[in-house]
Amino acid sequence: MRIQYAVVFVFLILALAGCAVTAYRSRKTYSNQVARLLTALLPPVIGNLIIIISTNAVLSEIGYYVYFIGMDCVVITSLLFAREYCEMPERYRKMHTFIFWLCSVDVLQFLLNPFLHCAFTLEETEIEGYAYFNFIPHIGQTYHRILDYAIVLSVIAILFLKMIRTPRIYAERYSVVLAVSVLTALWQTLYIFSRVPINRSMLSFGVYGIAIFYFALVYRPMRLMDRMLANIASEMPEAVLFFDAGSRCIWANSAALSLLTLKENTLEDAIERLNALFGKLEYNCTEWCARRSIMTDGEPKYYVLEMHIVEDTNQKRAGSFLSIRDNTEEQLRLKKEFYNATHDNLTALYTKEYLFEQVRTIVESSPATRFVVGYMDVKNFKFVNDVFSRSFGDYALMMIAAWIRRMMPEQAIYGRLGGDTFGICLPADLLDRAAFEDELSRFTVKDGAREYHLLIHLGLYEITEPELSISVMFDRAHFALTKIKEEYQTHTAFYDDTLRGEVLWSQHISSQLADAIANRELVPYLQPIVDAQGKVIGAEALVRWIHPKHGFLPPGRFVPLLEKNGMIVEVDKYMWRCACEILARWKQEGRDLFLSVNISPKDFYFLDVSAYITDLAAEFGIDPKKLRIEITETIMMNESDDRMKVLSRFREAGFIVEMDDFGSGYSSLNLLKDMPVDVLKLDMKFLNRSENSEKAKTILRNIIRLSEELGITALTEGVETETQFQMLLSMGCALFQGFHFAKPMPVDEFDAQYS
Ligand code: C2E
Ligand code: CA
Ligand code: CA
Repeated sequence: MRIQYAVVFVFLILALAGCAVTAYRSRKTYSNQVARLLTALLPPVIGNLIIIISTNAVLSEIGYYVYFIGMDCVVITSLLFAREYCEMPERYRKMHTFIFWLCSVDVLQFLLNPFLHCAFTLEETEIEGYAYFNFIPHIGQTYHRILDYAIVLSVIAILFLKMIRTPRIYAERYSVVLAVSVLTALWQTLYIFSRVPINRSMLSFGVYGIAIFYFALVYRPMRLMDRMLANIASEMPEAVLFFDAGSRCIWANSAALSLLTLKENTLEDAIERLNALFGKLEYNCTEWCARRSIMTDGEPKYYVLEMHIVEDTNQKRAGSFLSIRDNTEEQLRLKKEFYNATHDNLTALYTKEYLFEQVRTIVESSPATRFVVGYMDVKNFKFVNDVFSRSFGDYALMMIAAWIRRMMPEQAIYGRLGGDTFGICLPADLLDRAAFEDELSRFTVKDGAREYHLLIHLGLYEITEPELSISVMFDRAHFALTKIKEEYQTHTAFYDDTLRGEVLWSQHISSQLADAIANRELVPYLQPIVDAQGKVIGAEALVRWIHPKHGFLPPGRFVPLLEKNGMIVEVDKYMWRCACEILARWKQEGRDLFLSVNISPKDFYFLDVSAYITDLAAEFGIDPKKLRIEITETIMMNESDDRMKVLSRFREAGFIVEMDDFGSGYSSLNLLKDMPVDVLKLDMKFLNRSENSEKAKTILRNIIRLSEELGITALTEGVETETQFQMLLSMGCALFQGFHFAKPMPVDEFDAQYS
């Protein structure tokens, strides 16, 4: 008997110790209290183990001390556990300090027992032939019992009160602990009064400890969870329907009932309603997710439907549930965000990025169709903004957008590329270039009383290499604009490879100009100018570029393009300096020749030309009479009054001013009488253009006579034959230049020939 109980007690100790360690390691809410209680349960069991196995008085007495003092620890830790577990209000806890004091007194009287014998004494009996030491209680033992029972009763009371006050779902947590507590107390009492030698009630300590461990740390109230889940499902904003294994609807939450206009008792119609609302869907065996949009009261509504399979523990299909989520708001927000990201907010046209994307898509999706992309640019748009107002500018851009929408065929796509530039893309055979030209030529923006003609250019590129990036395609369309940038009559231009070559050449040349000047790759060539006797009296300085890679470049290869981008100014300043150097040298060598230099209209934009050249002449100490200034009539097109003043200042400073290429442009004879020029340069080339050579001769004769009368010297250039020379002589022309006399030549060659 003893041995069997001893073994059982050892197992009990191990089980309680194991639970205690687990509780210490756990981080759950009551783990500390539970661990302490489990630890406190060990001494009584150990004490009783000692009592059972001991056969001598001292060991038995030690066993009893461990047991009794251990009991104090058990009731105290039970109390501490119960007040946490039952969330006892703070105000009741104060009296516990008093109880702790009473327990301390109890412990003290046990410690004094060996000397005073106040709690108990031992009495030896014999059981099954072994000595067994029973205890005889004294007054202290009565105190101990009253105290421990009082504490146990208060623990039971705390659990009981909590149990009856808590919702029924939770009551289980408390009722089981309460029952075990009562049972343990009763068993313990039974033991005390039965006075059997082996304290079997220790077994209930094990049950008590493990029950507390389980309910406080492991147990989760399943009924509660079921109830909660059911509540959540029925209150959810999402519609939820449950189907059994045979795809019969067995439950639907309130959202589902109202979405499908069903009643609890018409659930069998659920699938029919679902099909009517969302189209046919699969309601058996598979999991799926689908998106559907339906129209309700003229507004689109978007739903996400998800079917989930529920399996039993054997992985057999037990049923399924369908959730239907209304994500209309999210869809509308996404749509709005997408719209904002892909549309320009002023004109509501596509943004550049989105346009490019769309162009890529249509080009790739119809490889058999030829497409054209267009780049639209408003000339001087900055001017519209500055002179009118930004809001007028915005308005103008909106008008352009509206115009594009109107002009474009249905298959076209278009967008705003940036500030005042727009991009279009359409099938090549739908492009009506004539209509564009016509519309663009009279494009005006009207805003109330204000009206402004916008000059819009459209560069076009037919997509011949679809593998190019879209941005390169639009770059090419943009390139095409360079052909017509300065034009007011033509509004559309097509990109071709020659143009591309030109633009690249222009960029190439322009980037090298500064170095070319520094390295003296630009050189002046001189073309003699002769008088009526054929005597060389001067020369025109004409620029040549001896390019290290491209060799000899005539001005036609670079002057016009530098004129376009304004860099011609650098060439001219350099050429004037060269001319001054030559004149200074000639002066030293005693040669009485003049030099004509060319002045580009662009020079007038960037320079105070007369001041610059006057300073230069002074710097080299040359007579202004020796430096002739060639201007073209185009400079008179803008700010003609100012330009006339510049020319007058030249003449006042002593320079001779020549009007170059007279008759090539818009020259009016009327202008001639006001123009402060000394020499009129006529080019045979322009006169020979006329089909009726007799008429041309008449004009030539009259211009020469007229200039004579106005006191202006006539100079004809481009004279290629003796016949021409003789004719011009007979007409009274004074000066001549042309291949008939000499071609432009390097300075040293000129020096050698005309000393
Ligand atoms: P331009 O000022 O009218 O120069 C006269 C052009 O006619 C020169 O061409 C000359 O070589 C050419 N020429 C002379 N005699 C004859 C002839 O009998 N028959 C034919 N067919 N042509 C003849 P080049 O040197 O090629 O210059 C072309 C244009 O380049 C010049 O026309 C001028 O507008 C511009 N240019 C040349 N050098 C400069 C310069 O230093 N500065 C500026 N701004 N422009 C220059
Ligand atoms: Ca010239
Ligand atoms: Ca000329």
